[in-house]
Order: sequence, then C-alpha cells, then structure tokens
Amino acid sequence: MSASVTCIVCLEALSPPNEAWCGVCGESYHLQQRTDVPGKDCGSVWINEEHLALEFTCNNCLNPAPAGLDDVLDLDEAAAFIGYAAADLASAADRGIVRHRKTSSGIYLFVRKDLDALRP
Ligand SMILES: [Zn+2]
Ligand SMILES: [Zn+2]
Repeated sequence: MSASVTCIVCLEALSPPNEAWCGVCGESYHLQQRTDVPGKDCGSVWINEEHLALEFTCNNCLNPAPAGLDDVLDLDEAAAFIGYAAADLASAADRGIVRHRKTSSGIYLFVRKDLDALRP
C-alpha cells in the first residue's frame, strides 16, 4: 500500500521537491521550491514579517471559488428551484432579468444565489 499524495488544488500527484503544506487548510499542494527545477505552483509562500516565519497557502485558500459546481444549475433545475416553468425562466434570462450563461449548445446555466431574487 503506497499512499500517494495528491495536490489539493489540481489533484495531481505530488513529488517531494515540489511539495508544500497549506497553513490554512493543512492539505498539500505544488510549490516550486527551487528556481532551477521546472515545476508548477498551486499556491504561494511568503515571509510573515511579524513572526518571521514562512507562511504557505494553497490556491484554494488564496482564491476561494465563487460558487461550487453544486450551485450551478441548468434551466430545468433552476426552474424547479424557484418554482417557475422552464420556458418562463428562459424568457426571464433572455430579457436580462437574471444573470445566466448560455453555452455554445444553447444550454442555460444559472448560479443558485442569483435565482433567489426571482423567488415569489
Ligand atoms: Zn497542484
Ligand atoms: Zn489551503
């Protein structure tokens, strides 16, 4: 049993030279510790001047995602969420009443919190 360590940000395997631990969530992430070795950074590190200590933070904690995928709804899900008919919600979106994104294949996507304004 080999426990392979994966990066909490990109979910790829971590190898020791490029491994760091986030001081916020405690998970490991990619950090290029040597400038002469190619690698990628999935977070950053800086010196805390007050404590003179290195502070490690992964990109997940530096840039919290604005909305999780669970909060992205398609037209039918969004209509059910606010109790609209799908066609009514689509026309509200077309009129710019609710923020949405239309994919290249014509699918409407909504963020759950934007729909709250439409609730009766
Ligand atoms: Zn990574
Ligand atoms: Zn973190």
